[in-house]
Amino acid sequence: RMNKKLGQNFLVNHAVVQSIADAAVLKENDPVLEIGPGIGTLTQALAETGAAVTAVELDTHLLPVLEKTLEHYPNVRVVQGDILRTDILELMGHKPFTVCANLPYYITTPIIMKLLEQRLPVEKLVVMVQREVAQRMTSAPGSKVYGALSVSVQYYTEPHLLFEIPPKAFMPAPEVTSAVVSMDIRKEPAVEVLEEKRFFQVVKIAFSQRRKTFSNTLKAAGLSKEAVTDILNNCGIDGGRRGETMSLDEFACVADAWTRYIRK
Ligand code: SAM
Repeated sequence: RMNKKLGQNFLVNHAVVQSIADAAVLKENDPVLEIGPGIGTLTQALAETGAAVTAVELDTHLLPVLEKTLEHYPNVRVVQGDILRTDILELMGHKPFTVCANLPYYITTPIIMKLLEQRLPVEKLVVMVQREVAQRMTSAPGSKVYGALSVSVQYYTEPHLLFEIPPKAFMPAPEVTSAVVSMDIRKEPAVEVLEEKRFFQVVKIAFSQRRKTFSNTLKAAGLSKEAVTDILNNCGIDGGRRGETMSLDEFACVADAWTRYIRK
């Protein structure tokens, strides 16, 4: 029985499952977190590496199936729960771990943001997402799909789109093409800022109204005309630019100029 609401499209192509597990580059006893093991196909491939697998599945109906599929793997622990409500740090014993998952597509962004923002001791994430989301995560300024998710992912990680997966690799086949993205977590964020909160505030403002120029979105967010002119001049940014053309460095410059403007 499938639960469409929970984004259940199970991978049935063994070669594809194997290449996702391979992308995680696991060694014996490496702790790995899988989100949404479903019927356990990827879980099994991860377990074959000898890694210490923790798999969090929301759907209680799948637990007996998982127990059966994984009965010969003492290195797998299945936990029932909602990943968005799980204390992941606690679950993984406050130790470094890898994430490898075929994500439920209806909550892809919240899951990725949770994994990144919490500054978990993670070095690498390998996730399967909709191709469109994979493109967003890896896109550069000026691209049509460049947005807040691109900036967040690139701020915390170095993302790579590894390969695409056609709908027919799944059961039932989803309507969209999927893609696997690996994200290597940066030791330090891609840009340095005075106040991280303001950096993300600027990013949010910039992408909130795509039709407006960047300077108008700042004004709409409550900044005075003088403040906006001062900030943009400071960073050498043309007021007519649009948010979606701005690089991480430029967002960082604006955030810092704004912080200094307030402080002076
Ligand atoms: N990994 C399996 C595979 O590749 O065949 C299944 C992937 S399926 C796209 C997503 C899985 O995530 C489903 O098993 C679904 O029940 C589970 N899921 C959905 N929401 C979840 C949540 N909030 N927390 C944990 N698991 C969830």
